[in-house]
Amino acid sequence: MAGLGRVHSVGLNAFAADVIEIQANISSGLPGVTISGSVDTSLREAKERVRAAIANSDLQFPATKVTIALAPARLPKSGPGFDLPMAVAVLIAAGKAPTTRLPGTVMLGELALDGRVRAVRGVLPLLLAARAAGFERAVVPIENVAEGALVTGLDVGGARSLSDVLAWLAGDLVLDTVDGDPVEPDRPAVPDLADVAGQASARRALEVAAAGAHHLFMVGPPGIGKTMLASRLPGILPPLSDEESLEVTAVHSVAGTLAGRHPLITFPPFVAPHHSTGIAALVGGGTGLARPGAVSRAHRGVLFLDECAEMGPKVLDSLRQPLEEGEVRISRRDGTAVYPARFQLLLAANPCACAPPKDVDCVCTSVQRRRYLGRLSGPLMDRIDIRVRMDPPGDTALMTGGAEDSAAVAARVRQARAAAAHRWGDDGWRTNAEVPGTALRQRYRPAPDALRPVEDALRTGRITARGADRALRVAWTMCDLRGGDSPDVDDVMTALLFRDRGGHP
Ligand SMILES: [Zn+2]
Repeated sequence: MAGLGRVHSVGLNAFAADVIEIQANISSGLPGVTISGSVDTSLREAKERVRAAIANSDLQFPATKVTIALAPARLPKSGPGFDLPMAVAVLIAAGKAPTTRLPGTVMLGELALDGRVRAVRGVLPLLLAARAAGFERAVVPIENVAEGALVTGLDVGGARSLSDVLAWLAGDLVLDTVDGDPVEPDRPAVPDLADVAGQASARRALEVAAAGAHHLFMVGPPGIGKTMLASRLPGILPPLSDEESLEVTAVHSVAGTLAGRHPLITFPPFVAPHHSTGIAALVGGGTGLARPGAVSRAHRGVLFLDECAEMGPKVLDSLRQPLEEGEVRISRRDGTAVYPARFQLLLAANPCACAPPKDVDCVCTSVQRRRYLGRLSGPLMDRIDIRVRMDPPGDTALMTGGAEDSAAVAARVRQARAAAAHRWGDDGWRTNAEVPGTALRQRYRPAPDALRPVEDALRTGRITARGADRALRVAWTMCDLRGGDSPDVDDVMTALLFRDRGGHP
């Protein structure tokens, strides 16, 4: 018995995907399977799964020499997604499956030992790559079929088992295009600002941060409501555009954090890693395929770091590169993985290490207090446009109640964002946070009387030149929120206050 089987699949290479051709060759010789073509250990284990899945699908695994090659050889290949196409290639080589449906088709899926097809990560970017390469059809695990269906123009079928795929190849079965009965998507449960009593200046800071896409730093005692406010930021941000939705969904697909039945992410994600999180979990990494970290899962959304002063300096430092470039590069044994990581950073910290609910009960020395927030490095804090200090609400603040809800705030944010996008559109910036200092100081310089508070603060050394740029950036957002044409002196004064209140130089 001799024969050759050829099946196309797609492999993930970090956030990129490549079409992979899988060839199975059966020749006379001692029974045994070899897999070649830059495969890692996870793929060598595929041998046993493929063999068992074929045997448990009432078929015989060839009792001669089987060689499986994955091409092109130069690309690193990893993960269980090639199980299904490998099994099909072997069966075709053995003459047990017809090939008429194979041209124009890619296949992917992990095989369980009993022949079931299991879900894999990265189906969305994989199928986008297949479509770009000119493929017309894809066979994917049934649990991934909803995600595959997001790729328009590709005919996507979901398989439950290897037997399903063989029946489909033989023309005896139509693969499902949905997994089970249709259900309505759940709206993501974003908490509402109406629940936050008092904290007027922190609420205002959050609104300004949302309107200008500014990074925000909140400092205040534990239990003051920093987390409560932070988790409400996604609820006042504009929803994702169609293009952003696909991009964000693709990242979560690779991370393995998508919901099965309604995978499309249409709202800005909120990611809040614990302060004990290490560098690999924060920026991405791991063996084999480097997985996207928290910074990438927060892409086009919010990264919230609570008690950030408790994080190690190296961990915090690892944020600099993604903050500067909007993507993260992870070194791997076989090259560098690149993932998108354009997020809005929300930092929160206690004022000191002992962190009593009331500041007067603090037992830290003044040196200890300064050192505590001083752990946050200058280069990181330089990127934070807005700082706000939260104090326990006075009795009157608690009594007022009836706080404005997220919908009302979101409407103002939307308007301000539209004004900024319109103004900067020709320069290629979309939000005030993206505008470089030189443009703020020269081409878009506010009127001299509006600038006076900044110039005074510079002269007296209260702020640095970078600090002045940040104040101007925030002043534009204040101006957009009130519907003005150019920042006035009040906008600039408020922006300066937002810098001073954080209790950090
Ligand atoms: Zn203290």
